[in-house]
Amino acid sequence: MSRKRTGTGTRKRKGLGPRASAVIPWGVPSARSSVMVRCSWTRGGEFESPPALTSPGTLEASGTTPQSVHRMRLGKTADDVVVAGGGLVGMAVALEAARRGLRVRVLDRSTPGAGATQAAAGMLSPLSESSDGGPFLSAGLASLRLYPGWIDALRAVSEVDPRYRRDGKLRVACAPPALRGLAGLARRAREFGLSAAPIDGEDLARLAGTRVAPPSGALLLAEDHQVDNRCLHRAVSEGARRTGVAVTPDAEVVAVVVERGRAIGVRLAGGDLLRAGAVVLAAGAWTGGIPGIPFPLPVRPVRGQMLALDARDSLPARVIESEDVYLVPRWDGRLLVGATVEEVGFDSGCTAEAGTLLRDAAIRLLPGLATAPVLDHWHGFRPGTPDAHPIIGTAPGVEGLYMATGHFRNGILLAPWTAEALGRLLAGGDGPEIPEAFLPDRFQRSPEDGRRSHAPNGG
Ligand SMILES: Cc1cc2nc3c(=O)[nH]c(=O)nc-3n(C[C@H](O)[C@H](O)[C@H](O)COP(=O)(O)OP(=O)(O)OC[C@H]3O[C@@H](n4cnc5c(N)ncnc54)[C@H](O)[C@@H]3O)c2cc1C
Repeated sequence: MSRKRTGTGTRKRKGLGPRASAVIPWGVPSARSSVMVRCSWTRGGEFESPPALTSPGTLEASGTTPQSVHRMRLGKTADDVVVAGGGLVGMAVALEAARRGLRVRVLDRSTPGAGATQAAAGMLSPLSESSDGGPFLSAGLASLRLYPGWIDALRAVSEVDPRYRRDGKLRVACAPPALRGLAGLARRAREFGLSAAPIDGEDLARLAGTRVAPPSGALLLAEDHQVDNRCLHRAVSEGARRTGVAVTPDAEVVAVVVERGRAIGVRLAGGDLLRAGAVVLAAGAWTGGIPGIPFPLPVRPVRGQMLALDARDSLPARVIESEDVYLVPRWDGRLLVGATVEEVGFDSGCTAEAGTLLRDAAIRLLPGLATAPVLDHWHGFRPGTPDAHPIIGTAPGVEGLYMATGHFRNGILLAPWTAEALGRLLAGGDGPEIPEAFLPDRFQRSPEDGRRSHAPNGG
């Protein structure tokens, strides 16, 4: 399959070919389910535990029918696409491929959504996450533009509210040295036609909705949005299920099976071979460790820890970010405080030191948080790459093998863009063309291609 290598414009191309002739329109839930799914974490003003993600082993609940399990045991499953990894990226790709008429199965080695997806802050901030105007910024902005339509469609098909908010972000410089960064951000925003309005003290208090420690400078980035990533994952999963995607939790892919240069399926931990027309690897930070990928895939885990505070008494009206910390207000009165960036491999767990660091930084920025109780402290592994760009597209030298991984700090932002890009490759039709800088073969071309001096910031 020939591919064009540059640009992020929308193109049509041939893929596996949809099973159905037409793309399933968004917002038409299948008659299979009329269950209203809620993403509500509070009741009567009190906090509840986060909603249980699909519990391990409940195949019916996760959309896998007994019949498909039977087929799987017989080793006769003939899906068009199997997706390894049921995080936001894998699930969004699965939904898009199913919407384009393909028969899709998602395999997750544990509970779908319990990886980096549940750990994120859900900020959709392409500008503040890119220190240059390269392909990352183009894709990030394109994905941000896809968000409103994607959210509407997800709400309609899933009946889950992903809690998408467009109230912008206040970016403040607490110490004078950070003013230079703020000026650079404002300049880049202007270059890309985005608004970055300087904010003075009085306006800052009004826009923040709470007292902010006097900063050296502040900007309102109106185009920065946020979504509740856990609710979003529930919406995408439910939407996928209603569009016919089979989801199998506790199904670890232990190898990609390649025959005569073509991926013919995946091997599961129990030894079964699951055949499929195409294999998509979307296993987040774990993708590079899946055996059978015949080329270097340098995805590494980058641990991030976050806190949730009960900030119902001093909840800011929008996201506030300083040079030390970001604060993300949620609809239920929680305030997310993030995040650490730690190169510790897959060392699981949270540290008291990080908890103190995050809480202290939050209080320095919003003094009213001094009495806010800590509700939760968690960590996740971002899928990092040497150049901080995602790895999206056709695998070099193996027909039928696709990658959707390495989204590092921006997988929530880039999910709809990635889904459309992969949807186009898999099934044909419209979708963004994947820039060369994201293609999986870049690490083979030259080591320098896989390295950049300016890594995107962000979640
Ligand atoms: C603290 C923190 C804050 C963040 N904040 C933001 C933010 O504000 N905005 C933003 O855009 N991004 C943010 N991110 C990044 C974002 O969370 C990730 O980029 C995104 O979730 C990656 O999604 P994924 O589906 O690729 O990976 P994951 O969500 O990690 O999903 C991978 C899935 O693959 C499964 N899996 C692994 N191995 C196998 C296997 N062998 N077989 C089958 N399944 C397997 C796992 O069980 C998991 O469910 C943040 C991340 C962290 C940690």
